[in-house]
Amino acid sequence: SSALLFQKGSIGSLELPHRILMGSMHLGIEGDAHQLNQLKAFYSERAKGGAALMITGGVAVLPAGGGDHMFCLTDQNHRDQLKELVQAVHHAGGKMALQLQHNGRYAKSTETGLSPVAPSPIMSRITKETPRELSITEIEAIREAFIEGAHFAKQAGFDAVELMGSEGYLLNQFLSPLTNQRSDPYGGSFEKRMRLPLEIISGIRQSIGKDYPVIYRLSGDDFMEGSTTRDETLLFAQRLVAEGVDALNVGVGWHESRIPTVAASVPPAAFAHIVSAIRQAVDVPVIGANRIHTPETAEAVLKQEQMDFIAPARPWLADEGFANKLQSGDPAGLNLCISCNQACLDHTLGHPLKPVGCLVNPKTGHEWAWQNRKKSTAALNIAVVGGGVAGLATAKAAAEDGHRVTLFEAKERLGGHFYLASQIPSKDKFRNTIRFYQTALERLNVTIQLSTQPSAEALKTYDKVFLATGVVPFIPEQLKGTQLSHVTTYSDVLSGKVPFGKKIVIIGGGGIGSDLAHFIASTNEVPKGIQGFFEDYGTKVEAPASVELSIISRSPRVAKGVGPTTRWVLLSELKRLGVKLYKGFECLEITKAGVWIANEEERHCIEADQVILCTGQVANRELYELIKDDVPTELVGGSYDASELNAAKAIHQGYHLIFDN
Ligand code: SF4
Repeated sequence: SSALLFQKGSIGSLELPHRILMGSMHLGIEGDAHQLNQLKAFYSERAKGGAALMITGGVAVLPAGGGDHMFCLTDQNHRDQLKELVQAVHHAGGKMALQLQHNGRYAKSTETGLSPVAPSPIMSRITKETPRELSITEIEAIREAFIEGAHFAKQAGFDAVELMGSEGYLLNQFLSPLTNQRSDPYGGSFEKRMRLPLEIISGIRQSIGKDYPVIYRLSGDDFMEGSTTRDETLLFAQRLVAEGVDALNVGVGWHESRIPTVAASVPPAAFAHIVSAIRQAVDVPVIGANRIHTPETAEAVLKQEQMDFIAPARPWLADEGFANKLQSGDPAGLNLCISCNQACLDHTLGHPLKPVGCLVNPKTGHEWAWQNRKKSTAALNIAVVGGGVAGLATAKAAAEDGHRVTLFEAKERLGGHFYLASQIPSKDKFRNTIRFYQTALERLNVTIQLSTQPSAEALKTYDKVFLATGVVPFIPEQLKGTQLSHVTTYSDVLSGKVPFGKKIVIIGGGGIGSDLAHFIASTNEVPKGIQGFFEDYGTKVEAPASVELSIISRSPRVAKGVGPTTRWVLLSELKRLGVKLYKGFECLEITKAGVWIANEEERHCIEADQVILCTGQVANRELYELIKDDVPTELVGGSYDASELNAAKAIHQGYHLIFDN
């Protein structure tokens, strides 16, 4: 049961109905008056979805500490928008804390038009800029800006204020000897490095009194060699509390650190022990977040008394009703975040910045349009062909729009390529998405016909047909040797039709080729889940104890299309597993012995007993030609655009084909 999660709690004077908060997220639309309705709708939906307290994305206290699409408190118009936002949240029954932030050396001059400032002029690996060292007068101005920001939060009606002091932003920079090398009252000893944040808290208390809830987000561990020590962190936590902080929210890692904190490969609750250590050192509530994505993990971290509140962020993108669904005990109806980062962090950390969405939840980022959608007046008979994610999303949207929907899937199970991908290490969570959609379709009374390929004649009897028939692997005809018996495709390997070889060459170094190499190289024994999968398919595959694995990539950049938050993790995994990368090589020919490759300087043969083609895919459109003249037909997902296998695009297209009409 989720009994502990649904105990009442409090942060200072703020009483909360339960323990599930929504952590701070930058949505990439903040400060834009034209997007205010969407911003309000985004948070209102989550307030209705049961969030006990939501924390805004970071609001800059001064322009030099801000960035693209960030609110900044020196802008009166932004202040007005924030007031409207919190009113909308209250109207929807929610509560909201304002997060105050200064990016310090993570600010980009291209975005702020100002040179970045920091305790010391130490280059940031993220921005490649060297900040200007702050003068004492400027530090005092920053202090006053934070204090005034808290005053604004209270006056504007926010239920609490949170100070962003983790993830390597300005207040965190003051604390760390790596970024604070001053020898004045704000640097040197740890006492002096703590000085600015502590002065801010005591100033806030003097300015707005004892009662207004103040949360400090501190860094539990910077994951940076030579940074603030564990003991210093605990001492800092105690000092913050002594100055009057009501709760500590514990973050981990800097944007520069090389320990993944948000990747799918990070085990659940991996950082809970860090939060727990702080909790033991203080007597105020402690909030934790990273990698708490499932009801089980959420309940477990409370049960083990590692934290008092959880403040997940991405799980709220995946399901706007996260807390309500946990409370009602409906795990099957919960859309879980799969930690792919593809439509959230990769959007806000990528260039150019794009608004946040969610791969598994096409409504996210479009709440305003959804709230104002026009429902169809006539219920149509709709056929959706193909039970991959494009088909699933289309069928769900069509049924929600009031139509009678039949979904056909040729295989004996739903999921298509997404199901195949679910055996890649750390992509097993993809199965939750399939389960979520399947449950939703069942609840919406969609007729699901598995192992069924409808004829063109049968499809012509419907009012409308959506073809989500996906893709088939592309076989490059010009390449000699593709018909040899040891040559196969990623899809045959992933589906278990073909067992692994011992000396494997993967042709194609895109996302699929790299993922496949990761899958094969890390399968030293077949874990239960995968074993089960193979049994489902009636094939038993014993993975060899070790394989020799090479990837041949035409591009000098392997895994090119993979998002910035994930690609470096994947590449370091391939390296760890000893996968050989041949970058910038052309394949000349496949022979029985191996694969001949060449670049401008050399030409040689890589021995192989198995060659796997990851050379792209082509749309499967056979049915389209047969029916398009007789019944309104739309292509969705890979059958519409096979240029890349993009689940986010496929899911969104299915949804928007219905709701944008
Ligand atoms: Fe989670 Fe991926 Fe959605 Fe981001 S895009 S919230 S990581 S499922």
